[in-house]
Amino acid sequence: MECWHCERTAHATCRFCGRAVCKRHTKEMPYLIHTYRTSRGEYKAIVVAGAVYCGVCQPQQDPITLKNME
Ligand SMILES: [Zn+2]
Ligand SMILES: [Zn+2]
Repeated sequence: MECWHCERTAHATCRFCGRAVCKRHTKEMPYLIHTYRTSRGEYKAIVVAGAVYCGVCQPQQDPITLKNME
């Protein structure tokens, strides 16, 4: 696979959208792998810092509501 930005050989794939990127164009972004609720009713998230990010896609911080899914 080739880099999305420069068409050199890719070294990694964006964790968020799947685009391939070379070492030069790889960016980093925290990646949320799991959320859970504690017995005290607090929401916690397990996050991986420095996950591979392509720099193009836009991971949204807040979940969106899906409509017309029935
Ligand atoms: Zn590149
Ligand atoms: Zn991406």
